[in-house]
Amino acid sequence: MMSGFSRSWAGGLLAAATLLTTTACGSGTADTSAGSEGGKPEVIAAFYPLQWLSEQVGGSDTQVSVLTAPGVEPHDLELGIQQVTQLKNAALTVYIKGIQPAVDDAVDPETSFDAATAVQTIPAGEHAEEEEGEEAHEHEVAYDPHIWLDPARLATVATKLGERLAAADPAHAQGYKDRAARTAATLGALDQEFAKGLGTCRTKTMVTAHEAFGYLADRYRLKQVGITLDPETEPSPTRLSEVGKLAKAEGVTTIFTESLVSPKVAEVLASQVGAKTAVLDPLESKPSGDYVSAMRDNLKTLQTALGCTS
Ligand SMILES: [Zn+2]
Repeated sequence: MMSGFSRSWAGGLLAAATLLTTTACGSGTADTSAGSEGGKPEVIAAFYPLQWLSEQVGGSDTQVSVLTAPGVEPHDLELGIQQVTQLKNAALTVYIKGIQPAVDDAVDPETSFDAATAVQTIPAGEHAEEEEGEEAHEHEVAYDPHIWLDPARLATVATKLGERLAAADPAHAQGYKDRAARTAATLGALDQEFAKGLGTCRTKTMVTAHEAFGYLADRYRLKQVGITLDPETEPSPTRLSEVGKLAKAEGVTTIFTESLVSPKVAEVLASQVGAKTAVLDPLESKPSGDYVSAMRDNLKTLQTALGCTS
């Protein structure tokens, strides 16, 4: 009696599972509205800066959604079945290969835009090999994937994104190109503000929580010393003392922390070298304002910390 009930219950589950599978398969092929919502092409941005960029360039011609929820560190994002399906159905997925292994695995090359392919990349952090860890490093790319922290490179991405959207939705091509040009101009102006604001500084060394600011350093001739390469890795004692020595030697007054990473390590380091801490936002998640206002806040923080005079 008891076992008979169990069996039929299990059988019911099995039937439900089969039904679910059938429905999922069916919707993939038969849904004629795939890639659109209310007639607009659906653009999926992997995480915040790409969401901001997609919204600027897509304007009212697209429906933009983001895979990484606000407040979530994007590097360790895992995708549910629903999100993978959403990716398959989207008109375009905008991502950066090397930031999120789960997204790298799920995207369809035909309907995705890897923003890293639009710009000249710089090599990944040089202390990458020194970091231990059993997690597979098979997804690691040879370049530093944090390209959005250089406004000039992001301007180039805006232009390329405009071309991709225009190709995907030819009826609205002019709108995409116009908005891409406006966005690129805004980012170009921001680049000029940074170049001017960081032109004359007492020190050019920035010690950061994780190595996210390589492109900013590259553009404005700063030297980035990241305590860790990625936000999930705990620095080794060797790395910490190495960074401490360097910070002292270069007269560093501020150790930068970021909102999504515990400031503990940076605070310990700061007290060891007699420095303060300040938040520098790598914009891996949505800031309180938008990309431009958060970057302006970063500029002010950098000017104070590095003793810039302009
Ligand atoms: Zn990062």
